[in-house]
Amino acid sequence: MNIQEGVALAPFTTFHIGGPAKYFAEVTTVPELYQALDFARDTQARVLVLGGGSNILLPDQGFDGLVIKIAIDGIERVEEDDTTLMVSGAGEDWDAYVAQTIEQNLWGLENLSGIPGTVGGAVAQNIGAYGAALSQTLEWVEVLDTHEQITKTIQISDCKFGYRDSIFKQLPGHYIVLYAAFRLSRMPKRNLSYKDLSERFQTSDPALPEIRKAVLEIRRLKFPDISIEGTAGSFFKNLIVNEVEAKKLQEKYPGMPVFSIPESLEIKIPLGWILDHVLKLRGYKNGNVRLFEKQALVVVADKNTSSQEVQDFMYDIQKKVFDECAINIEPEVHIVVR
Ligand SMILES: Cc1cc2nc3c(=O)[nH]c(=O)nc-3n(C[C@H](O)[C@H](O)[C@H](O)COP(=O)(O)OP(=O)(O)OC[C@H]3O[C@@H](n4cnc5c(N)ncnc54)[C@H](O)[C@@H]3O)c2cc1C
Repeated sequence: MNIQEGVALAPFTTFHIGGPAKYFAEVTTVPELYQALDFARDTQARVLVLGGGSNILLPDQGFDGLVIKIAIDGIERVEEDDTTLMVSGAGEDWDAYVAQTIEQNLWGLENLSGIPGTVGGAVAQNIGAYGAALSQTLEWVEVLDTHEQITKTIQISDCKFGYRDSIFKQLPGHYIVLYAAFRLSRMPKRNLSYKDLSERFQTSDPALPEIRKAVLEIRRLKFPDISIEGTAGSFFKNLIVNEVEAKKLQEKYPGMPVFSIPESLEIKIPLGWILDHVLKLRGYKNGNVRLFEKQALVVVADKNTSSQEVQDFMYDIQKKVFDECAINIEPEVHIVVR
């Protein structure tokens, strides 16, 4: 394993933002990860774990420590009764992994098609889309516990999954995801509850590839092309509230939609709707940063935008929402300090 110095981080993120890492290592195996952590301990360097860089905003000045890019690959299929356990290395590209499960006619991840990043990043974030969340199919995660310096298996019940939340986010740096196992069904298990999907498939029982195709098409209309523009997708978390709070907000903002979430009994208020319909901010631009014209929750940065500019834009939006609605909104994106 090679520890490099002064590696520019911008190309490793979908925002295309980030100065150089003091040290940078790409690890493809667990022993290499141990070596990288030993190096960090010996040099007293802080560690930042990086997957596909699609949910992170890195500082313009770079990272004054060791960035470890997780590139552990491999996919293994284990048959059990009428389900299949698909175990994936944390460095596998999430969408390529989903595509493989679909090719193998396994149900469970199709609604999560098209999300950028790695399997490890997806677990940390408990990704969700179109009425599905990763935590619905995950069974266990193998991690490196950086405090005890051992690998261990964490069952889903101990992952503390919530809306875009997990133990891996709650205890940053404590656990590094190495492998994740998903229990998938060989029998059809359609989840077409989400409006965009139920509208498309009103009369048919679509096959897996059709659902994936539909999800990818819908996503193409809602997100910018990350090969052209900088973004980390939804920049802010949607609001998760209880029933009483949801009712109050609906009275205040008639027409506001509410959604149930797969992770809990709470209710999701789409912040994008508030930004769009209450604050009329869809497409709002300040300097080089804007709220995407087709989905107001998505922050988009022009080429060569600085991290500071994106953060200033974030404060600007947070203030606008607070002034109008008295609601504090939080970033979903991991904002790294130097
Ligand atoms: C266009 C676009 C659309 C998106 N759509 C969605 C969507 O529909 N739903 C959704 O939920 N998200 C969405 N996202 C956000 C993002 O793609 C996901 O959160 C993704 O899972 C992040 O994975 P990553 O590998 O890129 O993580 P990174 O951005 O590299 O890292 C994110 C965080 O996870 C940690 N991390 C990464 N790998 C590991 C690991 N192996 N072990 C422990 N911690 C780790 C990092 O330290 C960091 O804190 C979108 C992003 C973009 C750019």
